[in-house]
Amino acid sequence: MLQVQNIEKYYGSKNNVTKALDRVNFDVEAGEFLAIMGASGSGKTTLLNCISTIDTVSAGKILLDGVSIADLGEEELAKFRRERLGFVFQDFNLLDTLTVEENIGLALSLNHMDPKTVQDRVRSAAGKLGIADILPKFPYQISGGQKQRTACARAMVAGQSLLLADEPTGALDSKASKNLLEIMTAMNRDMGATILMVTHDAYSASYAKRVLFLKDGRVFNELLRGERGRSV
Ligand code: ADP
Ligand code: ADP
Repeated sequence: MLQVQNIEKYYGSKNNVTKALDRVNFDVEAGEFLAIMGASGSGKTTLLNCISTIDTVSAGKILLDGVSIADLGEEELAKFRRERLGFVFQDFNLLDTLTVEENIGLALSLNHMDPKTVQDRVRSAAGKLGIADILPKFPYQISGGQKQRTACARAMVAGQSLLLADEPTGALDSKASKNLLEIMTAMNRDMGATILMVTHDAYSASYAKRVLFLKDGRVFNELLRGERGRSV
């Protein structure tokens, strides 16, 4: 589904160049839950920004479903982001003036999907995430955990290929972190979501099926759940 091929990323100009990514290679198969771990400054955010098309690579290629991101024009890129990529945010980014149901279905409605199909998809996702009963409520009427589930349902319904999560538990206490990671696990296991999560937190990474370790912009180790690490 995702192919990261020998990418490099440089910041700065001639005399002051930072190499943020150095020949990074990996593939993500459909249905995977992959974590990318590394210390601060190791290149995690840069990598995620390149994959999410917010930033461009200096060399190498990123393909999503066989399409090279670099080959897309401005408009295609916007469409690509909207239709192929989902994001799990720390702050839930729910719109206060819309109901939970409208929040979850917003991207579909904006894409002119017919209302009945939107409703079916929203209700199915809400059911799987245990929030079917709060669909008519507004964000101010629901709990923090319910907001997290609403945001995750919204990320799921558009049928995007890949869910990207940047330090999703970074600002959460341990109970909230566990909640969110369990939701992400359910999205991966029960709803077929492919997840790429960037984190410096070993507890968060322990929920992933595979972990890549970044150091100084390079992938230096890979761990499959239940196996010992192997150097790459
Ligand atoms: P992480 O997310 O793992 O903390 P980053 O991807 O933010 O790492 O940073 C990787 C390297 O690139 C660091 O040395 C950082 O200082 C540098 N860097 C990141 N963004 C920029 C930028 N916009 N301009 C210059 N250097 C940057
Ligand atoms: P529930 O009762 O559904 O579990 P809670 O209100 O207890 O929901 O919230 C679950 C977790 O979500 C809490 O531990 C809290 O830290 C976290 N949380 C609540 N509001 C926010 C917010 N605005 N941003 C980030 N996390 C939040």
